[in-house]
Amino acid sequence: FTDRKGKTPRRPGQRKQCNIEKDPVGVYCRIRPLGTEDEECCIEMISSSTIQLHAPDGLKANRNGEYKETQYSFKKVFGVNTTQIELFEDVGKLLIEDLIQCKNGLLFTYGVTGSGKTYTMTGSPGEGGLLPRSLDMLFNSIGPFQTKRFVFKPDDKNGMEIQSQVDALLERQKRDSQQSVSKIPSSRQKADPEIADMISSDDACKVENVDEDSCYSVFVSYIEIYNNYIYDLLEDAPFDPIRPKPPQSKILREDQNHNMYVAGCTEIEVKSTEEAFEVFWKGQKKRRIANTQLNRESSRSHSVFTLKLVQAPLDADGDHILQDKNQVNVSQLCLVDLAGSERTNRTRAEGSRLREAGNINQSLMTLRTCMEVLRENQMCGTNKMVPYRDSKVTHLFKNYFDGEGKVRMVVCVNPKADDYEETIQVMRFAEMTQEVEVPRPVDRPICGVAAGRRHRNQRGGPFNAVRDPAQLNHLIESLPAIPPCELVDPADDQMLPRLIEVLQRRHHTRQMIIEEFNKTANTVNSMLQQFDSQLSSKGNFLHDQQSKLSEKDKVIVSQKTEIERLEKKSKTLEYKIDILQKTTDMYEQDKRTLQHELETRDHRLHRELSDRRRIEQHMQGMVTDTRLKWEKECERRVNAKQLEMQNKLWVKDEKLKQLKAIVTESSPAQRPERPTRERDGNIAQKRSASPSPLPVSHLLLNTNWFVSVTSSSTSSSAYPSVASCISKWEQRVPVDSRSQARQPGTPQYRTQTPAPCQSTSSMGRRKGQRWAPDTEAPTTPLVYGLNLEAVHPIHRRSHSAGGEKWVDHKPSSNLDVDTVMQPIIPNAIKVSTPNEKALSKCHKYVLRHQELASDGEIETKLIKGNVFKTRGGGQAVQFTDIETLRQECPTAPSRKRRSGSAERPAQLEETENTVSY
Ligand code: ADP
Ligand code: MG
Repeated sequence: FTDRKGKTPRRPGQRKQCNIEKDPVGVYCRIRPLGTEDEECCIEMISSSTIQLHAPDGLKANRNGEYKETQYSFKKVFGVNTTQIELFEDVGKLLIEDLIQCKNGLLFTYGVTGSGKTYTMTGSPGEGGLLPRSLDMLFNSIGPFQTKRFVFKPDDKNGMEIQSQVDALLERQKRDSQQSVSKIPSSRQKADPEIADMISSDDACKVENVDEDSCYSVFVSYIEIYNNYIYDLLEDAPFDPIRPKPPQSKILREDQNHNMYVAGCTEIEVKSTEEAFEVFWKGQKKRRIANTQLNRESSRSHSVFTLKLVQAPLDADGDHILQDKNQVNVSQLCLVDLAGSERTNRTRAEGSRLREAGNINQSLMTLRTCMEVLRENQMCGTNKMVPYRDSKVTHLFKNYFDGEGKVRMVVCVNPKADDYEETIQVMRFAEMTQEVEVPRPVDRPICGVAAGRRHRNQRGGPFNAVRDPAQLNHLIESLPAIPPCELVDPADDQMLPRLIEVLQRRHHTRQMIIEEFNKTANTVNSMLQQFDSQLSSKGNFLHDQQSKLSEKDKVIVSQKTEIERLEKKSKTLEYKIDILQKTTDMYEQDKRTLQHELETRDHRLHRELSDRRRIEQHMQGMVTDTRLKWEKECERRVNAKQLEMQNKLWVKDEKLKQLKAIVTESSPAQRPERPTRERDGNIAQKRSASPSPLPVSHLLLNTNWFVSVTSSSTSSSAYPSVASCISKWEQRVPVDSRSQARQPGTPQYRTQTPAPCQSTSSMGRRKGQRWAPDTEAPTTPLVYGLNLEAVHPIHRRSHSAGGEKWVDHKPSSNLDVDTVMQPIIPNAIKVSTPNEKALSKCHKYVLRHQELASDGEIETKLIKGNVFKTRGGGQAVQFTDIETLRQECPTAPSRKRRSGSAERPAQLEETENTVSY
């Protein structure tokens, strides 16, 4: 964990090449006193390094002496009477010295539950264990050389940064203002006797040779590994007493020097033993609370308390820390209280507890396996992979076994007989562990570029090139001493030459000294110049770097703004996509609704069409039925009427016969009387004057007929006699107004209604029949009674004679159209082909002519005409009028209204809205 930036991290492979010194893992054994004196003891301390285990009596008896006494040797064995301070001096002290010397250390306690691991590590009030004593020794040693708070700052990557004095001061002020409220409980905690009594001032230990040219700072962290999960015990998570949240586990990471560390673990800077222990105690309390809340067994978790010592050299003045991260040294000591090593069956754990126990045992098992593999690799020269990663504990401490660091283990044993079998396992592990060697940490004194006094003393580099000052000294020393120059004897001629010689020699030496001095001065000068140029080049380099840095900064800023812009854009696009999505959804919904509607309508249309077809068929059937029925009915009525009329005729004939007989009898030479244009009532009155038993008037009235005999050819036979008249009458087939039969070849009789006058209306007009006053009527040479007049060349039947009679010519090829307006012509004789018989009975003729209109629809034309008698006795039709019946679809806009008949404005045109063809 000793950080030197820029240094290649040490790898196991590299280490093998150079012949690095290794030390075995230091394993110590501590025997705790028996709980009660009368308990059976199965451990005996043979020497200061050896113990002997003997099976308890019960077990021996059971297993037939299978168990023998076994001896185990350790680096040192601490008996039941060993005090905490004694143990610390042997086990802990060296680790603290190493810590201050920038060497890492790992100290753990191993043993079954109740064997005294926690007692050894933490201790009890008044008998502080390794942990509080380590803290105490550390602070005793570095106390006065500690930095102010927040000068060092963890960088979250297992490294340390240096803050400037000003930044540190600002942060201190900030924290002070934040913590001003919580200061009171902290001071109260200090008064906690549990903490206060841990270390007594009498036992104070101290490292003597602490480098005073460095500054120090201590950071502590405290984690718990439970069920192979790492929990930070110093994390300041808000505690909810009602619904306590389960603690969040942490993960292990490897820093840039391949050292393992707990990511995001809280590291608290502490400045005194009390403060550090207070932090530890806080974690301990948290651990206890978590154990209670989560119903965990404290002996099942591993706890790791880490002391991190950060040191950095002072500057040349020795006042401030050298602001160079590369000069920061971090070393750490991990104090580990492992979980109880007993096997699962001993705790009789069940369910999740069993699984947890399995995991805990698993991590201890992994520790054991790692040790075994390491030992094998070291002894047999193999290169097997050590399964550090199989558990969090071994993974976290991998670097201690792989890299550098002192590892020490205190194996705690309870000599009671119950623990015998577990203790044997512990002993085996302990024995095996001490055969594992870990690389010895190398001395790495702090060496700043221009740091502190110590550095000044130790400095090397270019200054070594300066000539040895001893040489100068030697020269100075080699200056010959000036001999006594007091002339007492004028005859002394030796003294002066000797003096001259000495002085000359001195002069020479002086010259040499000057030369030497000049040379040295020159060297120093040139070195200084060199140094200057180096400095300036460094300055230039720094300047370059700074400018590059600022450029990069600018680029970063611009990229950040670009990122922000893009983020905004992406947000707006997302929003738009959202909206579009919603719109699409809406449209899809609409589409679905419309489709559904369309389907429903289609369905309805189909249904209506089929309904219509059905109705059509039904109607056609009905029409045919009705037609047949009516035809039959008509036939029946005609027959009935014919019969009735025949009967009547017969009666009349009888009466006439009688009358004839009377007339013939009474006045045989009487001339026939010409009937006058008198009303029937008058006639009746005239007739009633006759003395006949059967008055004629009565007869005529009963028949309801005016008889008009017209002759087209015999105008000369002017006044036929009544008898002849009657005889002719007798020959006539009786007809009614509806079916006037024409006898070809006989004089044409015509029954007709009287002239339009009040008295005849009841007889001539029928219900529903239109009275169509014919303008031609007065000009028509109608002959009433026995008026024998020539027929008009183009004779037209009078309308006044009981309404118009129509020949309704409907060709059989015609189709039935379903127009609402249908020609209904009363008094019509329906024919499919026109014949003379029908024409002779009617005045009007209509032809129902169907043709296809230009729009493809059926157009029915009613071509109307008048029926005339021709001179040759035939019938002629003069067409006068056309009515058109047509259906149009209202949705066909291009269709023009067409006039069906030019002559007739009252054209019958019908439009059908609902039914389209
Ligand atoms: P572990 O942590 O191994 O489960 P503990 O350290 O909690 O065991 O020790 C269990 C009990 O035994 C504690 O009450 C402790 O005070 C006591 N104990 C352990 N070792 C010693 C010792 N060397 N001297 C006196 N008491 C001890
Ligand atoms: Mg314990």
